[in-house]
Amino acid sequence: MAVQLSFADERVLAVMAHPDDAELLCAGTLARARADGATIGLCVLCRGDKGQPVTPVAELARQRRQETTEAAELLGAQTMYGDFADGELTDDYASRMRLVEIFRRFRPTLVIAHAANDYHADHRAASALAESASWFCSSRGHRTPSPPLETPPALWFCDALEMLGFEPTFYVDVSEYVDLKRRMLDCHRSQLQRSGDRDYTPLEHLLVRQAAARGSQAGSAAAEAFRQHQALLRTRAW
Ligand SMILES: [Zn+2]
Repeated sequence: MAVQLSFADERVLAVMAHPDDAELLCAGTLARARADGATIGLCVLCRGDKGQPVTPVAELARQRRQETTEAAELLGAQTMYGDFADGELTDDYASRMRLVEIFRRFRPTLVIAHAANDYHADHRAASALAESASWFCSSRGHRTPSPPLETPPALWFCDALEMLGFEPTFYVDVSEYVDLKRRMLDCHRSQLQRSGDRDYTPLEHLLVRQAAARGSQAGSAAAEAFRQHQALLRTRAW
């Protein structure tokens, strides 16, 4: 019989660049952790304000936050927002401290971040910020309004869209949660309306195809793929 890891005692925080990234890359794992009894947080760093060419940016940012809130409610996750503009996310000290304060309020034991070599510039910046914050959140030398964590969280890097350039070291079976991933994605109406755009990939097809492909690699109907960050005090036995 296969040994099943439990997320029961974890506080899992996904740090994503854009409002619909978690649905595609790690929401099945978050849902499974939630079913185990974990507390789930979803931190979206960018407003998603350029994710559609027609709607004015302020209106689109407002709409996308509403869509994210609806999706997070399906997951049973708390939401946190970095409030950065799309395309302006950079790994600088002020941004690190903004994320450190988010970590210190939620107090994660496990952080899920984008892959460092992801194809999208915002995803790469979000990955670097999450990696920095996972260390500095427990460092008393870096002051923010909330107190530092006693222990830095473990850090997992998640898959890239279309699996491009990502070499997993382990998989999480999410066969029971593909339907939830799809229903969460359905909340992102502003994006699903873009099917006529030249630069847009139909996201629902991508979600189902990628979950099945990773599942095929891992011997399950559907899976999500990860790498564990190997770093001092952030590498854990599970
Ligand atoms: Zn994204």
